[in-house]
Amino acid sequence: MYDFLRDQDTDIYDAITGEDTRQAEGLELIPSENYVSLAVREALSSSLTNKYAEGYPGKRYYGGQEFTDKVETLAIERAKQLFGAKFANVQTHAGAQANMAMYFALLSPGDTVLGMDLSHGGHLTHGHPVTYLTKIFNFVRYKMKDVETGEIDYDEMREVAKREKPKILLAGYSAYPRELDYEKFVSIGREVGALVVMDVAHIAGLIAGKAAKNPFDYGFDVITTTTHKTLRGPRGGLILTREDEEIAKKIDKAVFPGMQGGPLMNTIAAKAVCFGEALKPSFQTYAAQVIQNAKAMADVFITDGARLITGGTDNHLILADVWTSYGISGGEAEKLLDEAGITLNKNAIADDTRKPMDPSGIRFGTPALTTRGFKEAECAEVARLMIEVLRAKDTATVERVRARTKELAAAHPIPESFA
Ligand SMILES: *Cc1c(COP(=O)(O)O)cnc(C)c1O
Repeated sequence: MYDFLRDQDTDIYDAITGEDTRQAEGLELIPSENYVSLAVREALSSSLTNKYAEGYPGKRYYGGQEFTDKVETLAIERAKQLFGAKFANVQTHAGAQANMAMYFALLSPGDTVLGMDLSHGGHLTHGHPVTYLTKIFNFVRYKMKDVETGEIDYDEMREVAKREKPKILLAGYSAYPRELDYEKFVSIGREVGALVVMDVAHIAGLIAGKAAKNPFDYGFDVITTTTHKTLRGPRGGLILTREDEEIAKKIDKAVFPGMQGGPLMNTIAAKAVCFGEALKPSFQTYAAQVIQNAKAMADVFITDGARLITGGTDNHLILADVWTSYGISGGEAEKLLDEAGITLNKNAIADDTRKPMDPSGIRFGTPALTTRGFKEAECAEVARLMIEVLRAKDTATVERVRARTKELAAAHPIPESFA
């Protein structure tokens, strides 16, 4: 691979091959990361990157669309099948753009969105004050009632919804390890006349692999997602509409020409390849194993007496209060574990008393390890190695664990394709 790059641009060649080695030798526990197949990477590097295709299949602004139309239509049809949706827009460049387009399609400036509190697991694009979205729309919040079980305060959600009259009731999160009560969301949304939307960016693969509930089965109107997290595709966004054609039309217009120019046709081809992989039965095995592996890791921490936010996990990720449990900050834990060959991220926990740049928690998960073929026993060992580092905090332990994580990585090479 990279023959031309090596000859033409050694600086970039060196950086990319360095990254390849880093990915091969380390254990990736960032729950939003994964490894794509070489088929996905071939589509990404294809001639489609040369092509302008503003518009939608059959309705483009440039000629020469015989093959781009075929690619985008396949991506749309596969996405619809995968998630049980009537309409799909595959053009958004990433998850943030998918959410922006969804807001622009469904809201007028000044309208209200009721979403998950950011410190309780919600995402930046759900109305963090640092985003431009908050200059345009009004974001209000619901929270967990009990941080130890993760139960959402649905009574408060209903009260806030009645008071604030949101146009969108938004479910979805990037640091919440439990399933939501979708029936409650839909009933509260209907009660106040809000559209009910879920951002499944983190759990799209679990839904596609039928290891998690599909919000559309409960009457959600729209789903936004990334394609590169548990779904194991190229970096990108996707917007699905369950059945309302008017909503779907508004979303298409909001994406193009409302917000983006030409679609990344190479990425759309890679999305189609990823959706094709996710439609295979083997992907369901993968999705179920992701959750079993996360539970195996959580069990080790629970047995060790650690405080896990919500007390465990039902999905692919775990949020641990390492400050209370091991007397180490999230930032320090991230750094030491990185040195030990385990990549994860520091994360604020609900109502964190520490600063955002060095919070009390770490967030980690199993999508990438599971792609490499890790099962429960290996994941439990990784959890024990993490605990050794978090307890000892010294160089000797870090070096010993580093040697073992390298062995584990070498024994589980990154796969080139999925059966
Ligand atoms: C990751 C994530 C996004 C943003 O996706 P990008 O591709 O990074 O823009 C949006 N929402 C949620 C819930 C996410 O976890």
